[in-house]
Amino acid sequence: MLTKKQWDVCLDEIAKMFPDAHCELVHKNPFELVIATLLSAQCTDVLVNRVTADLFQKYKKPEDYLAVSLEELQNDIRSIGLFRNKAKNIQALSKMLVDEYGGIVPGDRDLLTTFPGVGRKTANVVVSNAFGIPALAVDTHVERVAKRLAMNRWKDTPLQVEEKLMRWTPRERWCDVHHQLIFFGRYHCKAQKPNCPECPLLSMCREGKKRMKENE
Ligand code: SF4
Repeated sequence: MLTKKQWDVCLDEIAKMFPDAHCELVHKNPFELVIATLLSAQCTDVLVNRVTADLFQKYKKPEDYLAVSLEELQNDIRSIGLFRNKAKNIQALSKMLVDEYGGIVPGDRDLLTTFPGVGRKTANVVVSNAFGIPALAVDTHVERVAKRLAMNRWKDTPLQVEEKLMRWTPRERWCDVHHQLIFFGRYHCKAQKPNCPECPLLSMCREGKKRMKENE
């Protein structure tokens, strides 16, 4: 397994590679980020941004999503995977926001996870990006990178990955590290073809060494 000291080196190398890593979901306020993050489940940020460019023109506040039929909203997001279920969740969470929170998104992870369609990862993304509260959301890229580097075991759950990341990463770096790991996983340590030959972490990486050996 990776040591804590090696993890620190990995973080610094990844930060050097992606110093400007940031949230790629386009949004202007916490509510738009909730909607965009909910839509991004099993879908690329690029596609979500394409859809929300029009969606956020038409729907500006929770009440707007409640003023249309479910079918109309489903039609507006139909190019996104799982659109039927996502539309239902958007209307349900809009109703909860209006009924219980005066239409204002709460900046509290535990409260956010009580909203329909909002899991721990989405709540972490929202509190860290929209409210500046340190959080380390574990998405598919973060989980893959942590496991390839043997930071975590393959069988660990996303929550176990998150807990270890938080233990091993200084709290003040959580938000940046979240984005940097996503960029590293999205653009370098890709799911199908990780760029191991040019990776500065190769000497510390279990998966990279295995792949390099297989290609000898
Ligand atoms: Fe990913 Fe390969 Fe780098 Fe390991 S060596 S972190 S698998 S790109």
